[in-house]
Formats: sequence, structure tokens, C-alpha cells
Amino acid sequence: MALTFRGGAHPPEGKALSEDKPLERLPLSKEIIIPLSQHIGKPANPLVKKGDEVKTGQVLAEADGFISAPVHSSVTGKVTKIAKGPTPSGYPKEAILIKPSEEEEKEFFDPLDPDSVEPEQIIERVQKAGLVGQGGAAFPTSVKLSPPKGKEIDWLIINGAECEPYLTRDYRMMIEEPDAVVAGLKLLMKAVGVKKGGVGIETNKPKAIEAMTEAVKNVENVEVYPLKTKYPQGAEKMLIKAITGKEVPPGKLPLDVGAVVQNVGTARAVYRAVKEGEPPYEVALTVTGGGIKEPKNLYVRVGTPIKDVIEFCGGLTDDAERVIVGGPMMGVAQYDLGAPVLKATSGILALTKKEAAKSAETPCLRCGKCVDVCPVNLLPTRLALLSRRERFEDAEDVGVMTCMECGTCVYVCPANIPLVHWIRLGKQEVAALQRKRRAAS
Ligand code: SF4
Ligand code: SF4
Repeated sequence: MALTFRGGAHPPEGKALSEDKPLERLPLSKEIIIPLSQHIGKPANPLVKKGDEVKTGQVLAEADGFISAPVHSSVTGKVTKIAKGPTPSGYPKEAILIKPSEEEEKEFFDPLDPDSVEPEQIIERVQKAGLVGQGGAAFPTSVKLSPPKGKEIDWLIINGAECEPYLTRDYRMMIEEPDAVVAGLKLLMKAVGVKKGGVGIETNKPKAIEAMTEAVKNVENVEVYPLKTKYPQGAEKMLIKAITGKEVPPGKLPLDVGAVVQNVGTARAVYRAVKEGEPPYEVALTVTGGGIKEPKNLYVRVGTPIKDVIEFCGGLTDDAERVIVGGPMMGVAQYDLGAPVLKATSGILALTKKEAAKSAETPCLRCGKCVDVCPVNLLPTRLALLSRRERFEDAEDVGVMTCMECGTCVYVCPANIPLVHWIRLGKQEVAALQRKRRAAS
């Protein structure tokens, strides 16, 4: 029987639009915009200036501290400007603008032998290559691979669930390059020093389960785990519970139960960073939704404007209503299609008026549906109400910080209350309160 977790929901999958489209490469854009902050943590410090010639893979900005990541050039060309530019988050950020040249020259790291490389060398390479998690939060991968002393880690889990509706890039990667993903998993296991590896894949992806099972068949202590198709099966805590049976307690991290979770794309990127010396200068993403004329799965250079990616897919349909970066459950609506694709961008979704239609908000019906589906046992309606009334300390007491913003409660709410909007606001305010308390103590 397929493994799963308590709660969750079954939004329409929408994957048929793009699941049979092999990954292809987008031609170079006329201008590339590389933000200095594409990760959680401090922005990187620029090492180049206007007028400099840069090569593909060259480091453009260095990490500023432990929780930060360097950024690299995704093209060969000339730096035209360093200035604030649009980002998919909606907040303008400092970015390096590059005009690509016709000839491409690459400046990668020296290749390392995946069979003989030492754990410290893997972590160093991952850090220098600026790899960040591709599951959305863009946490620097090297930090996740460096657990504090005394933390015993037994599991390295690859998230192949791809539970966000519409997205199919991980699926394509697993069926097109299963050996690279498994080679990356082996390197990640070596880096952290764990014996057990697992790949969790939802049962709506039988071809991926088959390809990955074949790819791990001669790898010791690694298994593929078919998971029930249910949102948010790919959330770290849900994945760990389904595969290891361990529950990550509220306020704790996967490390606290001995697990590290990485995305399919991260595993492939680790393999390429080690074997080819390649920093993540391109990212795999799905361009889809009823509002895209020709849905596709693409490798896109980091820094490519979203509008160029959409244009390569035939453009928007006449009834396209909303463009989202990411999936429909956790993605962010876009107001400026000049914003660039980042290292952690997983998809570009254009919804039609019909797909995006939402009825007006009504008062809470006290139906309890949001409580039934919350995978981490929260009371979403109460959290939203406390945040709305600015009772942030009370919201903290009832666990607002445990919310993973998966959006399942919003999806089932018959009153169309923007629960996550209020919860997110509550989290920001509680985080500020906690910072103040720390500073005062
Ligand atoms: S409260 Fe948070 S974790 Fe629970 S369903 Fe809503 S968004 Fe997901
Ligand atoms: S699902 Fe919506 S209407 Fe039902 S209790 Fe939760 S917030 Fe209220």
C-alpha cells in the first residue's frame, strides 16, 4: 500500500498539460538579470562591475556569511548595470544585468571523481557552486548538509513527490535522467554520512517510479517509496512521516529526527557540480496552465525574464488571467513579467479566467474543513482570526509558526477566506517579536 500522512487534500492535478513534454532548452535572452539574493539569508556581495566581461559559470558575487550563497553568471557577456530590478517575490532587489554575447565560454570548477571524492569536498563544492534547495524556500544546500555536532542523521530522502498541481519538471527529470539523480543522492548520502537513502514518489507517476526503481536497483540501502497522491505529500515533514514513520515535532526540524530532505533537481545539480564542476547556471521548470499556448518543460538560464520564457511557449492565451511563479497552491502571483527566473524557480503557471475564478469571501461557516485537512494539526481558522485581530502573541501560543503555508486549508475553505494571507502576516509579526525578545535577553 502507498504511504501517506494525516490530513491533506486532492486539488485537480493539471499535470496532463505538460507531463509528456520532454525537457528542452530555451534560447538565450537579449538581457539577463541576476539578483544577488536568490536564497534565504544575506544577499551575496558583487565581485564584478559595469563593463566587465564575464563567462558562463563565473562567480559574480560571493556569499556573505554561513546562511548565504554565491551567484554565478548564467551566460557569457558584458555587465551593463548593477541596480535594483524586479524579482518574482514582488520586492525589487539588487541585481547584475548582463548582455549576452554570441560566443559562449565556460568557467566551471575542476571536475571531481564522484567515486573517490571526500565528504568535505562535496560540501565545499556545493557551497562554492551556490546550490540552493529547489523546493521553494531556496535554503543554501551546504547548510542542510552540515548538521550541528552531536546530531545523528540516518536518512537522506529525495523528494520526488512533486505534489504541487500542474508542475512536471521533477517528473521529467526522473524519467529522463534517473542515473544523474541517483548519483546525486549517493553524493548527498556520502556528504552527510548516512547509510539509508529513499526516494519518495507519488503513485500518479508510475513511469518515474519505474525509472527510479531501475536506477537504484544496484545501490545498497537505497529504495524508492511509492506515496499516496495527496497534497502536500512533498512537504518535508509529510515525506519524513510517510517514509520513516518519524514525526517532526512542532517547532523542530527534519535534522531533529535524523533526516535530511533534498529535491530531485538538487540531487542532479549536486552530481553535476561535482562531476562537471558546473554551478547551477540553468534551472528546470514547467511552463503550463490553460493560459499558456504551448505548455513545456524547459531548462532555462537563471536570470531569463519570465516574459521571454512565456513567449517561447507561444505566449499567453486571450483568456489568460493570472501568471504565477511556482504552483497554484504555494506560488506567487506576478505583476511584472520582466522579473527573472531564479535558481529555485520550479514553474511558471498562467491560469485562465475560469481556472483563476474565486468566489467572494463570506464569513466563516464554522464547518471545520480547514482543521480536518491541516497536515500539521493546526486550527487555521483560529490562527487567521488572531492574526486579523493583531493578537500575535496568542497566535504564537496556538502554533502559528508551525504553519508551512501549504495552502491546503484555503483550497478546502467554502467561505473563500484567505487563511494563508492572514497566517503569513501573523508569522511575520511573531518572527519580529521573537527577534526583539532575543535582542533584549
Ligand atoms: S494552517 Fe498552514 S499548514 Fe495548516 S493547512 Fe493551512 S497553510 Fe497548511
Ligand atoms: S474551512 Fe473556512 S469556513 Fe470552514 S471553518 Fe475553516 S475558515 Fe471557516
